[in-house]
Parts: sequence; structure tokens; C-alpha cells
Amino acid sequence: MPRDPDCVFCKIVVAEIPAAVVYENESIISFLDVNPLAEGHLLVIPREHYSSVLDIPPTQCGALFSVAPTLGRALMEVTGAEGFNVLLNDGRAAGQVVSHVHCHLVPRRADDDLGYRWNAKKYSPGRDAELTAAYQKAFAQQ
Ligand code: 5GP
Ligand code: ZN
Repeated sequence: MPRDPDCVFCKIVVAEIPAAVVYENESIISFLDVNPLAEGHLLVIPREHYSSVLDIPPTQCGALFSVAPTLGRALMEVTGAEGFNVLLNDGRAAGQVVSHVHCHLVPRRADDDLGYRWNAKKYSPGRDAELTAAYQKAFAQQ
């Protein structure tokens, strides 16, 4: 099983450091984020160490997201949230701090103070078609 002895989440997987584990199965573990954005903020990680989604075998990737309905339902019930964000920061530029793939499930309320607005842009004429073609070429080469 891929493991990084210096990784804090790998240490949680083998109970070398404690975590408030709420759910686990043969592929994943879910526990409370130690610095929550809201009470009940969950992390879910594969037991195996991969630093990026790009490195995860598709079955492991599927295992990570397949628990979202189960965890989400429990999160809504336990926290009384009105909704939740599922976030995955991949790479430092995207805000990833812990280099072991993980999803955040963040309980949300309409009147909470977390905010979630990014500066969306517009495509210049034809640029969307160029990008679509570039994507199709990239997929064809994978
Ligand atoms: P990232 O920015 O990498 O997507 O988020 C990493 C998250 O892991 C942060 O929200 C941080 O609070 C959480 N975290 C970091 N170290 C620990 C730890 O030792 N235990 C737990 N439960 N959460 C941690
Ligand atoms: Zn790890």
C-alpha cells in the first residue's frame, strides 16, 4: 500500500497520530478537520498515499467520492446544515497544504460568513472552441 512516513494523513491511517474518525471502510477514512471552517467539517482520504488526483487509480478515486452521499447525509443530520461544499484542492496553487489527496465536506448555511464567490471570466470569441478542440486532442492522446 503506498505510504509516506512523513505524511500526517498516512499517520492518521495507521493511528500513529489521533484523529476524530467518523467513518471508515476498506478504502477510505473520514475524520473531523482539526481546524474546521464550520462545526462538523469533514475530511475524507484514501488509505493509500497519493499526493494528487492525477496519481490515483480510478477505482480509488471512485471509492473517495462514492462515500459522499453517506457522509453528506450524516453531516446534514448531525450539524443541521442547509447544504455543504465538497472541495478538493489539488496542488499548492490550488490551496493544497497536505500532500495526501483529500476531499473536504464543509457544512453550509445561507447566513454563514464563509462566503464562496470566485471571479468568473468571459471567453473571448472563438477561445472556447479552441479550448474544446485542445481538450478533445488531449483526451484522444490519453
Ligand atoms: P488542504 O488545504 O490541504 O486542502 O487542507 C488540509 C486540511 O487538513 C486543513 O483544513 C487542515 O485543517 C487539516 N489538517 C491538517 N493537519 C491535520 C491533522 O493532523 N488532523 C486533522 N484532523 N486535520 C488536519
Ligand atoms: Zn499520506
